[in-house]
Amino acid sequence: MRSALGLLLGLAMVSALSGCASVGRSGPTVVASFYPLQFVAQRIVGDHAKVLNLTAPGVEPHDLELTVRQTAEISASTAVFFEHSLQPSVDQAVAADAPAHALDTTAVVPLRNGDPHFWQDPTLLARVARAFTRMMVAAEPAHAADFRSNDARLQRDLRRLDADFRSGLAHCRIRTLVVSHDAFEYLGRRYHLAVHSIAGITPDAEPSPQHLQQISALVRSEGITTVFNERLASPQMVDALSHDLGVRTAVLDTLEGLTSTDPHANYLSIMRANLAAIQKADSCS
Ligand SMILES: [Zn+2]
Repeated sequence: MRSALGLLLGLAMVSALSGCASVGRSGPTVVASFYPLQFVAQRIVGDHAKVLNLTAPGVEPHDLELTVRQTAEISASTAVFFEHSLQPSVDQAVAADAPAHALDTTAVVPLRNGDPHFWQDPTLLARVARAFTRMMVAAEPAHAADFRSNDARLQRDLRRLDADFRSGLAHCRIRTLVVSHDAFEYLGRRYHLAVHSIAGITPDAEPSPQHLQQISALVRSEGITTVFNERLASPQMVDALSHDLGVRTAVLDTLEGLTSTDPHANYLSIMRANLAAIQKADSCS
């Protein structure tokens, strides 16, 4: 009995060890550093590669610290897909030991004013998807035709999304958004909305009393109906402000991490939910 148990434990240890050592060996893997990049990677590679996301659902990507295992996954992967400066620990891992194929989105879409949230403009995500497709064609040429046709479908979906935003936000009584962290500048620029954030680029920065006064004055002078919260940040700041000002709160998803419990939710459906929330808040027709 004892020796049988010992044998079983021994086997379990061997399989655990070989599980560790087999990172990256079972077919091509793509490591994406956070959700919108995972979405693009999955759409382009389909079943031809395994896509790993370094940022677990519900984790704020600005705060990501890599585990030893994730660092090993990056160096063992076929390709890594990341955004320089959003997640310094990913930058360090890529700089220390990058796989043969690496795409930094800032090489395709340069950051504006240090703001990393480019995926809030679907036309910019489309440019990044094109570049990712080129990288995958170079990395796995046997699947080039599939990657290109997957890219064509994704480009079409992103064009439709952009068209829906343009028509959906063409006629609005209010053209201002008050949001909790500064994740919507690209969206505002693309669709001509002024965006004011309560915190800064990172979600947990504390606003100064002067800044809160400015936001309050803006809400009153522009007749703003809604202050937007987001899923990954603490709601207290927005709740307190909306209570003081007597306005509603609603959610705009930054899409930095997939937090929806709906298994079919993805970048496209969540962007459409954001559009509906903006249309309601800004009285768009
Ligand atoms: Zn952010």
